[in-house]
Amino acid sequence: MNFSSQLLAWFDLHGRKDLPWQQSPSPYHVWLSEIMLQQTQVSTVIPYYQRFIQCYPNLTSLANASIDDVLAQWTGLGYYARARNLHKAANVIVEQHNGEMPNDLNELIALPGIGRSTAGAIMALAHHQPFAILDGNVKRVLARYNRVSGWPGKKQVENQLWKIAEKLLPTERIAHYIQAQMDLGATVCTRSKPKCEFCPLQADCQAFQHDIPQNYPDPKPKKIIPLRKTNWLVMQLSDGKILLEQRPNSGIWGGLWSFPELDSLEKVAEYCSHNFQTNITDITATPSFKHIFSHFKLDISPHIITVHQSSNNISENNSASWYKISDALQLGLPAPVKTFLQSLVKLRE
Ligand code: SF4
Repeated sequence: MNFSSQLLAWFDLHGRKDLPWQQSPSPYHVWLSEIMLQQTQVSTVIPYYQRFIQCYPNLTSLANASIDDVLAQWTGLGYYARARNLHKAANVIVEQHNGEMPNDLNELIALPGIGRSTAGAIMALAHHQPFAILDGNVKRVLARYNRVSGWPGKKQVENQLWKIAEKLLPTERIAHYIQAQMDLGATVCTRSKPKCEFCPLQADCQAFQHDIPQNYPDPKPKKIIPLRKTNWLVMQLSDGKILLEQRPNSGIWGGLWSFPELDSLEKVAEYCSHNFQTNITDITATPSFKHIFSHFKLDISPHIITVHQSSNNISENNSASWYKISDALQLGLPAPVKTFLQSLVKLRE
């Protein structure tokens, strides 16, 4: 049996067939699940996917939603550019493709946030057309099976893997084959402890036969992750409302609601009075904590700042508003902001 027949026979017995997006794999469902699954595990994605589909059952409802609501649904899933691109792409599809996801690889790749692998997955899983994918799981399986050295983030290594992926494509059962590759990588050919004894590809797998599978693929070259520091200004009124401001659309946590931030607290009173017309009566430091992004660590020191009720007067154009915490928790929030607000609720109980 060749690669694809071995994989398909394994898929029939062990593949995943009950994931929510597999139940009616429309292009919209496949697209959404593929975007959510980028950098995120299946078990984390499932409840988000189910809630998202309830809110936005089809592409038009997603395009018609406000970006604020979409980000609120995405809160906690991270990598928020994914949600912004999803929303942007839905609007492009409505405007330029009559609300139908294109049935063409290059037209899919032209949409915001859709790369070659995601486009390939939509073509294969939803349209049953013979296109390859190359997500992290598939890269690992193919690098081991063919003993491809180098880090797959390098263009030359990636191109080599694409060539292999395309060459191995079967002519039948393409959707099952693509799913089988993803499943094998996620459940058998895992990163640190591959279960080669259960693998259908063992007999021809070059890394298993001649080397140590874990040596493939090469890991990402290590970079020193810089540490940045910030102070959160958790301003609160005597009635318990807190001040949140919406972050600019681009950059970290773009479009989400967060606390005002300052590098240094030296001029906090002046800052609050100038930007938010608030007079501070009291500042309490709370324990700092770290949040890890892909390219830096952020050391966050929250400071609870009590302000005069009478100074609840914020100009409209600075994107900041006072919220009851229960209302704030419905907004699109970065995960650490949400956690901090929940801890404030507990503190007040
Ligand atoms: S034999 Fe091991 S290393 Fe090779 S593809 Fe299977 S699980 Fe991965």
